Amino acid sequence: MSEPRTLGALKRAGYRSRSVKDELRENLLRKLAAGEALFPGIVGYEQSVIPALVNAILARHNIILLGLRGQAKSRLVRSLVNLLDPALPVLAGCEIHDDPLRPICRGCRDRIAACGDDTPIGWIEPDVRYVEKLATPDATIADIIGDVDPIRAARGGHELSSELTMHYGLLPHAHRGIFALNELPDLAGRIQVGLFNILEEGDVQIKGYPIRLPLDVAMIFTANPEDYTARGKIVTPLKDRIGSEIRTHYPQTLEQGAAITQQESWTERGGAVVVPRFLREVVEGIAFAARRDKKIDQRSGVSQRLPIAVLELAVSAAEQRALRAGESPVVPRIADVYAALPAITGKLELEYEGEVYGVERVARDLIRAALAESFTIHLGGLDLTPVIAHFSAGGSVKLSGDAPAAQVISQVRAVPGLLAQLGALGVRPGDAPGLTAAAAEFVLEGLYAQKKIGRSEDQGFVAPETSLDVEIDMERLERLRRIKRQVN
Ligand SMILES: [Zn+2]
Repeated sequence: MSEPRTLGALKRAGYRSRSVKDELRENLLRKLAAGEALFPGIVGYEQSVIPALVNAILARHNIILLGLRGQAKSRLVRSLVNLLDPALPVLAGCEIHDDPLRPICRGCRDRIAACGDDTPIGWIEPDVRYVEKLATPDATIADIIGDVDPIRAARGGHELSSELTMHYGLLPHAHRGIFALNELPDLAGRIQVGLFNILEEGDVQIKGYPIRLPLDVAMIFTANPEDYTARGKIVTPLKDRIGSEIRTHYPQTLEQGAAITQQESWTERGGAVVVPRFLREVVEGIAFAARRDKKIDQRSGVSQRLPIAVLELAVSAAEQRALRAGESPVVPRIADVYAALPAITGKLELEYEGEVYGVERVARDLIRAALAESFTIHLGGLDLTPVIAHFSAGGSVKLSGDAPAAQVISQVRAVPGLLAQLGALGVRPGDAPGLTAAAAEFVLEGLYAQKKIGRSEDQGFVAPETSLDVEIDMERLERLRRIKRQVN
């Protein structure tokens, strides 16, 4: 059966108007009843965010998601498009997708008056019913809601409130759809008032002229929690019209985080790439360590994009080495995680103490902390005394980041008992040399991260140093404090 193409045919087919919030609600109810996956690809929110979001949609609320950066807020918002009908009838050619039975724009009303049941109908897909905007302080009423041209109105003999004179902004383009506004607190107060008026009254003042605009929109906002709750950032009546305030969060377990990172990162690059599980854990552990580090600004957060980018760079570094050495599969090692510093340093907002300490050192410490933790999980119960004794007795092993796997293996073979312990990391004797090399290097890096062995620039892994305490340059600290006082 083909879709009706005229207003008359649409009416005969029994079409009934339905608000977008009813549409979202009813489609959600149907998916719930059918046991369908509601938000495919969203990991770690099954017990927290998703139930709250489902409740909000069932209640036909406007929604705000409060969370730090990199918590999949935008992704969650965009996935609401899946709850829209696959095809929606509109008055053909209408800029704001008018409902054939309830047109709000003057042009459509005039057309129906002239053509009656022959007025043409178009059909639109869910994607065009989703409008997204990042709020910025310089956004204007004209951008978001629209503008009127008083001179044109006067010449044409239209009333100013006639929509014929209206130039539509983003929000009217979301009529009968979803309007997503990110970082709501960055929106100027008077525009927030405009949004509120449309939500509440269906009309708005533009340049002092009242404009009737009874839009049908599901509004969904996002914001950083601290900005949102700061006094005076959101006009109270607007806040009051947002029915549900839902908090997002970072992954609660390393496994969830690693699953998200695996899903979102680009690591399948044509050739065979094998990322050992312990390496995934270390990469994810960096984000977890960063999220509890006092040197990092926790109000700004540590985005999930950090471990995603780290894993991608680590795979790239391994790719480079494998190509040079003619090896396959590509297996990233801890040295490759250190090579991924550019994916870390730019993504951390540091506290003052972190600034003093230096972002690169902060990043290296994070890798070490993640490494030490993963090491404890996998190898904490093993007796590595013979390995440590080898170094204490003056032995050394230098593993260069670009050394081929075979070279790494031949070097670590000299360390008694090392290769025998790799089973704890899931690596078996017959596995690819790249895996064995990565696992052996992980053990040595782990021992170093736990300060059980040392490392020197030219000799690589060596005997533990007697004092490994990090010295802070007190003079520099004092100088920076003075500068900060002056700035304040
Ligand atoms: Zn229209």
